[in-house]
Amino acid sequence: MTALAVENLVAGHGLLTAVRDVSFRVDTGEVLGVIGANGAGKTTLFRTLAGVHPATSGAITLDGNDVGALSASRRVSAGIAMVPEGRRLFADMTVRENLQVAGENGRPGAWTLETVLDALPSLVPLLKALAGGLSGGQRQAVAIGRALMSNPKVLLLDEVSLGLSPVAIEGLYEQLAGLKTRGDTAMVVVEQDLDRAMQFSDRVICLLEGQVALAGRPQALGKQAITEAYFGLAHGSAANA
Ligand code: ATP
Repeated sequence: MTALAVENLVAGHGLLTAVRDVSFRVDTGEVLGVIGANGAGKTTLFRTLAGVHPATSGAITLDGNDVGALSASRRVSAGIAMVPEGRRLFADMTVRENLQVAGENGRPGAWTLETVLDALPSLVPLLKALAGGLSGGQRQAVAIGRALMSNPKVLLLDEVSLGLSPVAIEGLYEQLAGLKTRGDTAMVVVEQDLDRAMQFSDRVICLLEGQVALAGRPQALGKQAITEAYFGLAHGSAANA
């Protein structure tokens, strides 16, 4: 079932149009990878979906309901949660408190402190630790747990592996793979590592100067076409995007 549908979305910064006529859909249980070079518009797209940046035009629907006019907090209540680039935890609160605060602002549902800790077991020994003292990988895991506490239908993950060690990235993706296996959340993932993006995503869209330059199943598109789209060398799209 389509969880999130985006149609002809346009968003910008002043005179600059950063997201141009972007359309895609993500089904429940599916992972959509968003690939694009620096400045391609990925963060602006995510912030617009989350309601923290205004759309100029276009439609955003969640489970068939138009959420485009809702505030950011109402979108969280409706089921869109973002793990932003840079994480932004409450540094002087414990991990437990960070998770609990998020739970108070979301939808009721299957994700509780207990089930989040089951899914992200690396958080268990950290519950009493202050978020400000955690490593990058630990902070990222808390940020994902925090997003889950709002019981999202759609989880937006913006460069979750940014700045992490290879070991931390591996651990993080193992936990995300566990979420994917559960099959009850749609995920939209910005990932700069093309191999990882292709491996983890069911479908990808490649953004180039704010537009979808290529879309489809990563295996069908192939790494060369995706790399060319990333660098602005290719045109066209594959079926099933
Ligand atoms: P990165 O990978 O570097 O985060 P991105 O793909 O997320 O890049 P955006 O950050 O969405 O891309 O930027 C898209 C375009 O919008 C770029 O040209 C960028 O310079 C511009 N832009 C982004 N944020 C602002 C802002 N606050 N004010 C003005 N222009 C901005």
